[in-house]
Amino acid sequence: MEGESASRRIRNGSFGPALLIAGLCLAAVPASVQAQEECFDNAFCLDAVRDDAGQVLVRVRNLLPGAITMRLSMELENLSADRDLPLVFTLPAERRAQPVRLRIEDEYARWGYRFDARWIMGTLDATHDSGATYDLPFDAGASWLVGQGYNGRTTHQGKNALDFNLPEGTPVRAARSGTVVEVEDRYEHGGPDQSLKSRANFVKVEHEDGTIGNYVHLVHRGVRVRPGQRVREGEVLGISGNTGFTTGPHLHFEVYGITTDLERTTIPVHFRTSDGREELREGRSYLNPGRVRERSAERPRGW
Ligand SMILES: [Zn+2]
Repeated sequence: MEGESASRRIRNGSFGPALLIAGLCLAAVPASVQAQEECFDNAFCLDAVRDDAGQVLVRVRNLLPGAITMRLSMELENLSADRDLPLVFTLPAERRAQPVRLRIEDEYARWGYRFDARWIMGTLDATHDSGATYDLPFDAGASWLVGQGYNGRTTHQGKNALDFNLPEGTPVRAARSGTVVEVEDRYEHGGPDQSLKSRANFVKVEHEDGTIGNYVHLVHRGVRVRPGQRVREGEVLGISGNTGFTTGPHLHFEVYGITTDLERTTIPVHFRTSDGREELREGRSYLNPGRVRERSAERPRGW
């Protein structure tokens, strides 16, 4: 669903050809509204209003339960912007922003703009919390092999991603707490075919620092959480599988932020293993020691 783009041309008083013809109904629309809100990809909406100074305020509203990063390009006609364009900015979950204000240069001439908006789920230049320690994304007491590690030669070139060789049907657990921002489980097939790259099932969890944990190749109908849901480390997110571009059943896990080019940049992270806190290595198996929940928190009042 991400990496899409939307574009429109907006002219003063123009809500699209249909409305121009029916000139009369313009009178009913408040003078402040210059462009009716229009929504794209079920992800964001964009409109424009006139502020008290008569300037045109372009507003963007995020409809998703996670932050999106947007690149807004605009062609201006008889308008000047208060910021350099194109503009790359992050819009927090379910929030509205006014990224740019346009000044009309000649009030008596026609004015307009054309926008092109590209977006991706995630936070621009998210600063990963280096103190964060991730749980191994499977059952406590279980031990699994890291079949491919950071910068692995098979498919992880230039990527800080890990493949855990989980058999199909294995519960996948949250490695870190956060908010589920996107899920997919309609795909049924997997194999060493590049065309399957965009056809993998997954769960994405947005962490407190804005980075995203991505759990990929889940089984068909194998997601157990929904967008907007808060999850704690250790909670079951879904069932491991073999969907998408794969050479065999496994869980691909990565943590990433977003660059100004609206690309993902993956981040190396540390896990809690039976040997302590460490970065994981390809070719080694790791036991999930589980967590000793702080008893103190549960002590009865006045203990
Ligand atoms: Zn992988």
